[in-house]
Amino acid sequence: MALPRLAARTWAGALANSLVDVVYPKRCAGCGARGEWVCPICLNDLPVFAPPWCPRCGIPMRFGPCRCAAIPAPLVSIRAVGPYTDWLRSAIIALKYEDELARAEHLGGLLGTTLGDLGRANVIVAVPLHPRRERERGYNQSLHVARYAARKLDLPVLPLLRRTRATARQVGLDAAGRRANVVGAFEADAGAALGHPVDRVVLVDDVMTTGATLAACATALAGIGVGQVDAAALAWDL
Ligand SMILES: [Zn+2]
Ligand SMILES: [Zn+2]
Repeated sequence: MALPRLAARTWAGALANSLVDVVYPKRCAGCGARGEWVCPICLNDLPVFAPPWCPRCGIPMRFGPCRCAAIPAPLVSIRAVGPYTDWLRSAIIALKYEDELARAEHLGGLLGTTLGDLGRANVIVAVPLHPRRERERGYNQSLHVARYAARKLDLPVLPLLRRTRATARQVGLDAAGRRANVVGAFEADAGAALGHPVDRVVLVDDVMTTGATLAACATALAGIGVGQVDAAALAWDL
């Protein structure tokens, strides 16, 4: 009786989706138009990154110069949904600071699409918040985004990283200050792999500026034997 059960599940899923739409009605992050997370006009003003792009930094040829030189050493490749501006910036701010957690599905789906050509990773790991900050916010936005991106790629999301000390916000710090602020702030736990191979990891974060946080995470992962760390950010603050 697989068919009725599947139908019931589809029906329940549709009901759950429509309830989510009632509680969190979709609005364009750019102009506020109802019905979509981003409307065609705002998307036309700021299209998401798409190939042809640099295979390492993921910057599209039409967008401007390659940013490979800006990638910190422990990271191999980077993919971002787009630059930190316009509707994408507003969407991330809404997700992060305005409790619009429902945006994670849209943004995570877009991020999963950008990862399609990176080559096969074993697992996805979200950049963790310090437990105190996560309690204050109620959720780790990067973890929610990572789950939706992972769903597209059929990969597990594993909590391989822990933030061992609360760090000052990176906003307002220069590149050297950002690096110093996050040095040693992350610890990797091989036990959290639960038997999954972890030689290739994709790290997920919301906004990448200098990449200092992602680099500190990659260094911690190298300590438990991860051979290659790529990064996926919703937006690159270029
Ligand atoms: Zn719009
Ligand atoms: Zn490049």
